[in-house]
Amino acid sequence: MAALLLCAGYGRYRRGAGPSARLHGAAGVIRLLVLLWLACAGLAAAQEVPAELDADASRIANRWGGMEVTLTLSHPVPWRARLLADPPRLLMDFRELDFGDTPLRAGSKVRSVTAGKVRSGWSRMVVELDGPYTIRTAEMRTGEGAVLDVRLDSADEADFAAAAGLPEPKMWALPKAAATAPVEGSGPLLVMIDPGHGGIDPGATSGQTLEKTLTLAFANELRTALLRDGTFKVALTREDDSFLPLETRLTLAKEAGAGVFLSIHADALAEGEASGATIYTLSERGSDRAARALSERHDRDDLLAGVDLTQQDDVVAGVLMDLARTETEPRTEMMARAIEAAMQGSGIRMHPNGHQTANFSVLKAPDIPSALIELGFMSSAQDMMRLVDPQWRAQMAHAIVLGLKDWARRDAQIRPLLRR
Ligand SMILES: [Zn+2]
Repeated sequence: MAALLLCAGYGRYRRGAGPSARLHGAAGVIRLLVLLWLACAGLAAAQEVPAELDADASRIANRWGGMEVTLTLSHPVPWRARLLADPPRLLMDFRELDFGDTPLRAGSKVRSVTAGKVRSGWSRMVVELDGPYTIRTAEMRTGEGAVLDVRLDSADEADFAAAAGLPEPKMWALPKAAATAPVEGSGPLLVMIDPGHGGIDPGATSGQTLEKTLTLAFANELRTALLRDGTFKVALTREDDSFLPLETRLTLAKEAGAGVFLSIHADALAEGEASGATIYTLSERGSDRAARALSERHDRDDLLAGVDLTQQDDVVAGVLMDLARTETEPRTEMMARAIEAAMQGSGIRMHPNGHQTANFSVLKAPDIPSALIELGFMSSAQDMMRLVDPQWRAQMAHAIVLGLKDWARRDAQIRPLLRR
């Protein structure tokens, strides 16, 4: 009943009667929120106009023994709040909320706040907490606009773990990573281009420029260049400003039967640490400190965007993956060298170590030659000039096409020798 009330009016929900529309007990709140979520999903489609957050009238304030999140919205929308562990986070999902550009004021118990689109039609705010909490109450009051009020209590690890361990509602769960059996394709190779970051995860920033926007623009240009050449088929892991977990990017490549996976980035590193294009291939260790910092940051961005990590490498899967990697590794290395050579041949300015290794999660498909291309570093003024120059990007896209073609030709000759 409560769920129906909420959906019909996008209004307040309450348990029982009385003016104090409150829910008590973390588990109870979360369970009811999930119910509301499911019940509202269908009706929510009718509400097309995103609500806007009034950042000046919103804040996260420290309270004795906890904190209080107050978000003022232009109008009510379906929402839910839940907790996730490692690191402890409060996730609030909305259909749909425009967070604007003004940062939210937050007290000292908040490590960071990120907000943005998490998938088409859904927005998410992630509040990284300084320790374990439980949700005491969560309510949306409506009148002129809407005010979401979420109160958190400091909690011990056990209570927090119980609240954070509740499973995702089915409709919300993202696709799981694919199985590891190699796909035998025929016809032209499919190049899966993966524009780095997206949605709630902007990647690096430089002034008004966001890495997620640059990588998507370049991915589209690279697709055009590859299709014009005619040697390859092409697909993109994302076509718009949506968040995709790293695992889902791999799954999409796998399901599409990709023969090559190229993740496109333009990250930032400490001043003076990096400039020029760089191609990374997978290694557990990573070739230097900067490479490790990059891979750790990407995994952390993924975490903070609200991904549940399910790293249960069982032994059998591990062995199968090692076997697949043994065949894929030399093909990947050859691909990286071919792209590097084509970039150098096209006069692209490269990092002094143009080909490096790093432990990037997004490169872990065992049977698809995968590389992560840093087009340049947004932390470098010179790189930044090149990154926003359409002519330079066209040159870069052309070099990648040449490199891929050179590799594909040699790979077709060598591949039969690798499987005996
Ligand atoms: Zn990046």
